Amino acid sequence: MLLENKVAVVTGGTRGIGYAIVKEFLKEGAAVVLCGSKPETAEKAVSSLKNENDRWKVSGISPDLTNYESTKAAFDKIASEFGRIDVLVNNAGVSAREPFTSYTQEMFSKVIDLNLTAVYNCSRAVVDGMKEKGGGVILNTSSMVGTYGQPSGIAYPTSKFAVNGFTLSLARELGPFGIRVNAVAPGVTNTDMVKVLPKEVIEPLKQSIPLRRVGEPEDIANAFVFLASEKASYISGVVLHVDGLART
Ligand code: NAD
Repeated sequence: MLLENKVAVVTGGTRGIGYAIVKEFLKEGAAVVLCGSKPETAEKAVSSLKNENDRWKVSGISPDLTNYESTKAAFDKIASEFGRIDVLVNNAGVSAREPFTSYTQEMFSKVIDLNLTAVYNCSRAVVDGMKEKGGGVILNTSSMVGTYGQPSGIAYPTSKFAVNGFTLSLARELGPFGIRVNAVAPGVTNTDMVKVLPKEVIEPLKQSIPLRRVGEPEDIANAFVFLASEKASYISGVVLHVDGLART
């Protein structure tokens, strides 16, 4: 198994891409702590995973990721319980699809706080421990729109461009300590957000993608497994596009 004996924390692990990452990590032998926005959603995700396999080592927490102290306290608790955090996956994210002229500062801050500041908070909270242990892996969830932009919802692509910059820069800074930092940039992925789209929208969308389908959460999760594993031991500072070549 690719992640045997690894301790991983996955933010936004209660549904969608994050849930698939947690599940694939568990299948590969990792112990995983998932973060949800509320204790109830974290508990629900944990019990659904335990129902699938009661030997999986999974638990849930719900710190306020936009607040450094709350995040640090929760992550320190994990490190003292498990002895270390080997892999951090910064996956939690939100968007607000509004045209720029009605995009309020409140919307802008909400997206930036979770998609960018929380990535800083979580990474900052694990890095001293990783340095002490001589290494670790930090993985961020970017997006195809973090390279190409999108015509509405300005804070979302902006946050993902920043996540890419954060990834490349932190990879350079932390490389000498044995810490690899990478990002995965999903294309359109079949989560709740996409499942509600009508057939008239989804069919032309699929036809515009060279691989002729939208991504499944497992497609994205597999890239995270690879980057978290020793198979990617010489890879740092990359933004890996997992999007069926949906790049325009
Ligand atoms: P989703 O809405 O299904 O899941 C989002 C996750 O973030 C949930 O687990 C939720 O609990 C968590 N979350 C939301 N607000 C939070 C908060 N305030 N505090 C803590 N956690 C919070 O979304 P998804 O599609 O699975 O997206 C996961 C990641 O993938 C995001 O970073 C998103 O930007 C990125 N992404 C998604 C797609 C796509 O097409 N679905 C494409 C590119 C990138």
